[in-house]
Amino acid sequence: MDIFGTREFDGHERVVFGNDEPTGLRSIIAIHSTALGPAAGGCRMWPYASTAEAVTDVLRLSRGMSYKNAMAGLPFGGGKAVIIGDSRKGKSAELFQAYGRFVGSLAGHYITAEDVGTTTADMEQVARVTNFVSGLGRKPGEAGGDPAPKTALGVFLGLKAAVKFRFGRSDLEGLSVAVQGVGGVGYHLCRLLAAEGVKLRVADVRPLATQRAREEFNAVAVPVETVLSEEVDVLAPCALGAVFNAESIPLIRARVIAGAANNQLAEDKDGAALQLAGVLYAPDYVINAGGIISVAREYGGGATEVQVTNEIQGIPGRLMEIFERARREGRATNSVADQMARERIERGAARLVA
Ligand code: NAD
Repeated sequence: MDIFGTREFDGHERVVFGNDEPTGLRSIIAIHSTALGPAAGGCRMWPYASTAEAVTDVLRLSRGMSYKNAMAGLPFGGGKAVIIGDSRKGKSAELFQAYGRFVGSLAGHYITAEDVGTTTADMEQVARVTNFVSGLGRKPGEAGGDPAPKTALGVFLGLKAAVKFRFGRSDLEGLSVAVQGVGGVGYHLCRLLAAEGVKLRVADVRPLATQRAREEFNAVAVPVETVLSEEVDVLAPCALGAVFNAESIPLIRARVIAGAANNQLAEDKDGAALQLAGVLYAPDYVINAGGIISVAREYGGGATEVQVTNEIQGIPGRLMEIFERARREGRATNSVADQMARERIERGAARLVA
C-alpha cells in the first residue's frame, strides 16, 4: 500500500503503528497537523477487515480532527487513533494500558480520548500509564467526562440553526427528524429533540437501542436500510461515516442534514451533490465539536461544566457563517467549511515558522 500516495494521506505529519504481542494490541496513531497545538482526537476500536481499511479510516478521521479543532478555535492540532479489534469481546485493562504506553511514546504530540468502541473506563486505564489522555471521569460541575452528551448538545443547537436558515423558524415544534443510530450521541440528541416537540423516527442495528427511544421519546422505529430516505424535515446521521454518496443522495427527501457522525460525505463532491439536490448540509466537524470542546477543556484543567456548555453555544453561530457564505458564493457548505479550516491551520503553521 503506497500510503503517501493515497488521497487520504493529505500531508499527514506522522502515522505510527503500535504492536504489543502480550496483549494483542494492534493500533495506529495518525497525526495530521500540529500547527495549532498538540494533535487531539479520540481512539476508535473497530474490527477492521484489513490493516489498509484501518489506515484509511484513521487518516480520514485524523484530518477531520485538524479541521474540527481549528474551526472550534481550540489550541490543538488534529490526530486520531484506531485499535483493530472488536470492542464487544476484545477489551482488557492490559490492552488499554499497552495502548496508553503507545500514546505516551509520542511524548505529548498526540492526546487521546474515547471514540466509537471505547469508553471513559477504558481511558481511565490509559491514564494509569500516560498523562496524554482526556475524557476521564470527573467530579460533578467539572469540565469533562463522557463527551457524547456534549456532542449531542452541539448537534442539537446546530440543528436548530440549520432549521432557522432553511425553514426560517426558531422552534422545532411538530418538525420531523430521522435519527440514524441512537447510541451515545443519538440517544441524547433524541432526548433534546423530544423535549422541543419533535416527531422522531429512529433506526439502529441494535433493537434495544430503538426500543429505548420508542419507550422514552415516543419515537417511531424505521428500518436501517431506508432511514436516510424517510420523508422527514431533517436527517440526523449519528452512526457511521460515508453515508451520503452517489447512491443515497438521490433518495434523500429531507431538506436539512444535521448529525453527529464523522466523515458523513463519502467524497468531497457529495457536498456539491447535496447542494444541487436542495439539501442544506451542516458540515460534520463543525456541528459535532461539542465533545472535543469538553475533552479539550478537561485536558487544559480548571474549567467548569458551565464554561464548556457556554463554549458549545458558539457552534450555531459558526454554522450560520458557513451557510450564509455558501449562499452568497453559490458554493457547497462543506467546501466553504474546508476552506475556512485550512486557512486557520495555515495561519497557525505560518506563526510556527515566523
Ligand atoms: P455509538 O457507538 O455509541 O453509537 C452509534 C450507534 O449507531 C450504535 O447504537 C450502533 O448500534 C448504531 N449503528 C451502527 N451501524 C448502524 C447502521 N448501519 N444503521 C443504524 N445504526 C447503526 O457512537 P457515538 O459515540 O454515539 O457516535 C456516533 C457518531 O458520532 C460516530 O460517527 C462518531 O464518530 C461521531 N462522533 C461522536 C462523538 C462523541 O462525543 N461520542 C463526537 C463527535 C463525533
